[in-house]
Amino acid sequence: MPRLYLSPPELAGTELAMVTEALASGWIAPLGPHVDAFEAEMCARVGVPYACATASGTAALHLALLVAGVTAGDDVWTSTLTFAATANAIRYVGARPVFVDSDRASWNMDPGLFVEELARAARTNTLPKAVVVVDLYGQCADLDPIVAACRAHGVTLIEDAAEALGATYRGRPAGSFGELAILSFNGNKIITTSGGGMLIGSRKDWVDRARHLATQAREPARHYEHKDVGYNYRLSNLLAAVGRAQLADLDRRVTARRAINERYRRALGALPGWSFMPEAAFGTCTFWLTCATITPPIAGATRDALLDRLAALDIEARPVWNPLHLQPAFAGARTIRGQVAEALFRDGICLPSGSSLAPAEQDRVIAALIG
Ligand SMILES: *Cc1c(COP(=O)(O)O)cnc(C)c1O
Repeated sequence: MPRLYLSPPELAGTELAMVTEALASGWIAPLGPHVDAFEAEMCARVGVPYACATASGTAALHLALLVAGVTAGDDVWTSTLTFAATANAIRYVGARPVFVDSDRASWNMDPGLFVEELARAARTNTLPKAVVVVDLYGQCADLDPIVAACRAHGVTLIEDAAEALGATYRGRPAGSFGELAILSFNGNKIITTSGGGMLIGSRKDWVDRARHLATQAREPARHYEHKDVGYNYRLSNLLAAVGRAQLADLDRRVTARRAINERYRRALGALPGWSFMPEAAFGTCTFWLTCATITPPIAGATRDALLDRLAALDIEARPVWNPLHLQPAFAGARTIRGQVAEALFRDGICLPSGSSLAPAEQDRVIAALIG
């Protein structure tokens, strides 16, 4: 039986035609019309006016922090329960990540805790330069209170929507909150360019500046003139062609991942000790990954025992993100609570969730878990 992966790339079927068009046009570099079109199509989809396609989501995060003016010694608050790339970018600019705990309603940054602590930081003159709010596993954070608090205190908000393209919050698309947002088209995300990302947002000056920095910061002069240290962070025309084919298929992918989640819930939701990541009432989750917690004494098995069982059957599953405040790379960083994220990590499992997962394949996973 073939190995089952957590979230493998899936072709939409139109990639070859798009890439062939790009090759036939001869325009494979620099940048090109597919990059412009991919950006425009993403803006229309997410409902934001400006975009800069990048070589990765991490590059987009780095650019977002640079143009937001985050520099050495600044504090940047972010969720502790996320992929390391979120906080790595904070360190690229020499800033200090401050990690905020999750809530159980969405597994994202606890909005009550965040609002309270930001108000305290305002009183003690220790406000962060920026906040990076993460939309985890295809679900938006509770953005209204977080956006309002950042506005009230004049703190820049960056939305890390790498895992949440296609999700909504109170009817608005993930990626349309905050002054800037980032998306990822890494191979395991809901759409992929094989590797890529995008910085999007409502501030033209910042997105223009990001595009400038991402193209080696070349000034418009005949000779090579550079006033800033630049980066080589842009997406290629060929990969943008792949991204356009994938983006056109996004709705089907969301439907497929939601159906997979629904099927897992029906099969496993009533097992003792099992609890799936809730879908908060404020939005629609894509369930990029289906995640659940397994409480050991009641469930009769630990998270790791289930992972071992799946691995033995050639099924890839993973623990929930290890909170960043527990990572050696971020040892010593300030953490605002963290116990909820620690518990979600201790008991949390991510199940195969790719949009190409067939019902018979999913049944293999389910049978293995029921044991
Ligand atoms: C995937 C991911 C990123 C990084 O995106 P890349 O395109 O892999 O660089 C950033 N943040 C989160 C939350 C992610 O899941």
